[in-house]
Amino acid sequence: MGQADDLQLALSRSSSAKAHRFLVLLTTPRKIPISVTRLARMAGVEATDLFDIFKDYYHSQGLMTMVKALPALAQDVVQDSMSIQVECPRCEGWGKVLEDPDAEEKVKVECPRCSGSGRMRKAGDADARKLMAETVGWTKRGGGAGPSVNLNLNLGGVESVIEEVERASTSSPRKIASAGGAIVDVTPDEVDESGGGGK
Ligand SMILES: [Zn+2]
Repeated sequence: MGQADDLQLALSRSSSAKAHRFLVLLTTPRKIPISVTRLARMAGVEATDLFDIFKDYYHSQGLMTMVKALPALAQDVVQDSMSIQVECPRCEGWGKVLEDPDAEEKVKVECPRCSGSGRMRKAGDADARKLMAETVGWTKRGGGAGPSVNLNLNLGGVESVIEEVERASTSSPRKIASAGGAIVDVTPDEVDESGGGGK
């Protein structure tokens, strides 16, 4: 399982009523600490529920990381799809060829294939072009993938999305101000900042 802040974040992102009950119990200040296991039981959260809650949470985190990489990836795809200039295969870049290779006198003439430039245009990567065409809706299959992608994320509002994007951009997860230590004992002092959930 994760750490205390991961648990609270996962619970706050979940759409399950049980998860929200658990979060409320977890973040309620108490004089006598109650074990997390017991709080989970009080909220009706079984091990399988907890697994699903974490699975959904990490799944959405992963998707967010990928979504965030899309601009850079798009740049790559664009670059891959672009045509490039390559050496002319006929004159090997010299721009000139022998008029008659078998003739005694070696007479060089302008390469008929590249018109003397020595360079030729080579089409960009076909897969990248296809992907781009489908994404922007140039083909029937695509129709513009962007807006129609259903991420099926359980996003708790604009603020939480922004927070998620920011979290995805850092290599180590941001610590919640006061939720430290193992999740077994959540003491009263540690639970006032839950990451926005619990209502
Ligand atoms: Zn040539």
